[in-house]
Amino acid sequence: MVDLKGQYDDIKDVVNPSIQEVIENTAFINGPKVHEFQKNLEQYLNVKHVIPCANGTDALQIAMMGLGLKPGDEVITADFTFAATVEVIALLNLTPVLVDVNEDDFNINIEAIRKAITPRTKAIVPVHLFGQCANMEAIMDIAKAHNLYVIEDNAQAIGASYTYKDGTKVKAGTIGHVGATSFFPSKNLGCYGDGGAIFTNDDDLAHTIRGIVNHGMYERYHHDVVGVNSRLDSIQAAVLDAKLPHLDQYNKARQIAASKYDDVLKSVEGIITPVRTKRCDKACDNCDCHVFHQYTLRVKGVDRDTLVKHLNEKGIPCGVYYPIPLHKQKAYADTRYNEADFKVTNQLVKEVISLPMHTELDDDQIEFITTTITSYING
Ligand SMILES: *Cc1c(COP(=O)(O)O)cnc(C)c1O
Repeated sequence: MVDLKGQYDDIKDVVNPSIQEVIENTAFINGPKVHEFQKNLEQYLNVKHVIPCANGTDALQIAMMGLGLKPGDEVITADFTFAATVEVIALLNLTPVLVDVNEDDFNINIEAIRKAITPRTKAIVPVHLFGQCANMEAIMDIAKAHNLYVIEDNAQAIGASYTYKDGTKVKAGTIGHVGATSFFPSKNLGCYGDGGAIFTNDDDLAHTIRGIVNHGMYERYHHDVVGVNSRLDSIQAAVLDAKLPHLDQYNKARQIAASKYDDVLKSVEGIITPVRTKRCDKACDNCDCHVFHQYTLRVKGVDRDTLVKHLNEKGIPCGVYYPIPLHKQKAYADTRYNEADFKVTNQLVKEVISLPMHTELDDDQIEFITTTITSYING
């Protein structure tokens, strides 16, 4: 699914000395590399504060802790996402409220959010699934009207832009009150272990969060709030700082691979290629609104699992993200849920298939993959 070695070979002249420097300095925790990366990421995202942490799941949890959400507060999120999003809501004894997604872009459905709001609702967590933003303009309007926080799960869309109706562009993860991301190795900006970060433009929230990631300490050995231990280590920061200048080019490589998949697959009967949602009226030739963390097809009238098996037999790795809706997972099932409210997710889990997607995909690989799919479908 991913080719991390190929990408490493291209940048090892920068990455290796940078890792070496951390080892020589022995500044393994909170070393200068962490600060440098933080500053560079703030600049790249055009956001006031980046707070690095240990992984993307922690980033979400700490964002919710920072906002002061309390047990019993309801937090609305998508039924069709990686479990980490709902896991941290439950872990903090908040009440997860899962809602359906859109059939076209797989992102949280606006009407479903509206329907789910109660007097106990305190936050919405849109997930920018597979590399493209949820409808943030509508979500921020709802949040404003109901006085809710918005926490963006940006683990899959770092570097993507969100374009407002008037054409203004901002980076994914910097629109809500707070954003969270992951630097897991296979993410669009991945390190060589675990890593994550929280983004916000709010000075007070940033201050609160900086304490929470460090045992609730704002002054050495004074613990004002209950915190956690969640740090990005300096070696990972060195890797990320070396890769950040390449992020746009990495995302471009993914977009080019996606277009090549599209060119062949869009006309194949039974296959629905991924939609790029157009949110503004401007011409969008060079659009960075979808950064293709995953290239996810839907199949209709084709047995998805047999197709996956066939591709695997031909040596093509492919993934099913995600095979089970969260509301049907044992840990998150709840009698409050009504199956009729999850029509789209229940359908998508049977139809989706994600093809190999990374920065090193070449034309021969893409041709082999698309030919294998078309000849399977055409019999
Ligand atoms: C990867 C991912 C996370 C969690 O990130 P980790 O760094 O693995 O903890 C959270 N949400 C989504 C949508 C993800 O894809």
